Amino acid sequence: MSPDDLLLAHADLRDRLFAAKLLIPSGVDGLYGRSAIFESVLQGVDAAAYALGLADEPTVMWFPPMIPRTTFEAVDYLRNFPQLCGPVFTFTGDNKAHSELVRRLDEHEDYSSSLELSEVALTPACCYPVYPSLAGQLGEDEGIYSTMGYCFRHEPSVDPMRLQAFRQREHVRVGTPDQVLDWREVWVDRIPKLLESIGLEFRSDFANDPFFGRAGRLMSMSQREQQLKIEWLVPVFGEEDPTACVSANYHQNHFGELFGITTPDAAEAHSGCVGFGLERCAVALFAAHGTDVAQWPDSVTKVIWP
Ligand code: ATP
Ligand code: ZN
Repeated sequence: MSPDDLLLAHADLRDRLFAAKLLIPSGVDGLYGRSAIFESVLQGVDAAAYALGLADEPTVMWFPPMIPRTTFEAVDYLRNFPQLCGPVFTFTGDNKAHSELVRRLDEHEDYSSSLELSEVALTPACCYPVYPSLAGQLGEDEGIYSTMGYCFRHEPSVDPMRLQAFRQREHVRVGTPDQVLDWREVWVDRIPKLLESIGLEFRSDFANDPFFGRAGRLMSMSQREQQLKIEWLVPVFGEEDPTACVSANYHQNHFGELFGITTPDAAEAHSGCVGFGLERCAVALFAAHGTDVAQWPDSVTKVIWP
């Protein structure tokens, strides 16, 4: 599909979701409200994605949609993905500075220099808060986690599969390299079963993250060569431009080293995560089965609303 046709296909699906009142426009690309039905489909996908990992007896963790700026900086987000980042700024000035801020607002001037960096940033991937919480030596029965939450990425787009605010269900494994890689293999078997059960077409492939700039291109190539990232791609806009609905990442010792996490044998921990894009899965379902859930196949609704 040509870039122009792809853009039209994106806009067409988004318009259909707006018209069916499944997504609620906000005036900003990638920032939408969700209807009760949309949310119910999303929660069903999340419950199924969570249940798929229950056999591993994960420790469940919930976090706010923000991480400490120390974590945001430690994981090198600004260095690697400055184009996506969302540090939070706030006002910390005195009355005089406030008058200046209000003046700028009244004059419709840029007021960014009236604001200061706060100690928090919007979470870019919901597994990020898990790793710093594990600093130290893991116990024998520790190392498998499950979390879900909102993520922010500044990638405004008319594509309803590419949002600025979206949720991920992430399963995380921290342990020896063998434990992490074996765990990833288990998920490589599990993920297709879930996608098949909800009637989505897909293929899997090795992939890379959108590291920024020239140095970033090298990192992307190396990530792909080492097969660190696998994606399950759903052809919502055709086979040539499929969208990743699920990803599995092997981080090697990256987070273990950064946050001082060690295995029960005192070796530096390796880690991996499996992330389900929940809005992406929900939109893919509406694209595949139609915007009226009453018309969806029973086999699919049985999985979503068991
Ligand atoms: P890591 O944790 O290693 O940084 P991750 O696996 O959490 O990476 P991604 O692989 O980039 O992060 O994203 C995981 C899933 O989140 C994707 O497969 C996709 O389904 C979903 N996702 C990513 N970006 C968006 C977006 N802009 N809008 C909606 N869903 C998204
Ligand atoms: Zn992750």
